[in-house]
Amino acid sequence: MGDKRILVLAGLDPTGGAGLLADVSILREEGIHSLGVPTALTIQSGEKVQKVERVSARYFERALSSATTSLPPDGIKIGMIFSAPIGRATHKFLEDRRNIPAVLDPVLFASGGEPLILDETMAVLKMIIPLCNLVTPNIGELDVLAELFNVKGTGIEKRGLELSGKIDVPLLVKGGHRKGEKGVDLLFSQEKISRFHPEKVGGKDFHGTGCALSSLIAAMLVKGHSLKSAISFAKKSIEMRMAKGWKSPGGRWFLSS
Ligand code: PLP
Repeated sequence: MGDKRILVLAGLDPTGGAGLLADVSILREEGIHSLGVPTALTIQSGEKVQKVERVSARYFERALSSATTSLPPDGIKIGMIFSAPIGRATHKFLEDRRNIPAVLDPVLFASGGEPLILDETMAVLKMIIPLCNLVTPNIGELDVLAELFNVKGTGIEKRGLELSGKIDVPLLVKGGHRKGEKGVDLLFSQEKISRFHPEKVGGKDFHGTGCALSSLIAAMLVKGHSLKSAISFAKKSIEMRMAKGWKSPGGRWFLSS
């Protein structure tokens, strides 16, 4: 432990099912030490996000600078950003660290529809995206990003290709909420599409799978895997964790270790 480190910038979900706590625990299972700075503080049950509170930019910037100066990370995973000042500090940090992989899960809404980003943050999100090495939207997030980057194409394939070309960053569109080809993730990179098929299509309502997937991809990139191999590994690992998952008393499912 400790020879590879990932910086996690994500929201704090006190249930541990998503966000910073979930990211740190899955990275530890891969033998990776996490540095973590919360981008926002959520109040949620295992079922629903009830409220999101800002963290101060002053705390965020100082914590980020102090931790990463003493322990430089080998990779970065970014999840929920929430507010514009945190987005600006994240952007500045990424500009100075172009030499290490950064995976962005553009968390915009919770599964229940609660917004996890403020409107004020969309402009800085647009500046952050081109500084990343992979962006992992779900279908709903793809639609919002397509609008943000003025993508004209319709349908997942045209949109994905056009958007990844515009941002010049590979795009992994997660298929968990797709109607056709359910569970098939599409990677758009260098004008090509690669498909990642699930072994089994599950119908359960899981919490935090997107967070875990992007963290595992970042872990594999830091370990030297190619992008496709990192995605394949991460997808299989999530499926295995879903197969062994557990149901919370309120009915949603959590990934197992
Ligand atoms: N809370 C945090 C901090 C998150 O990052 C996320 C999703 O990424 C959620 C809540 C919502 O998770 P879900 O969509 O599984 O409800």
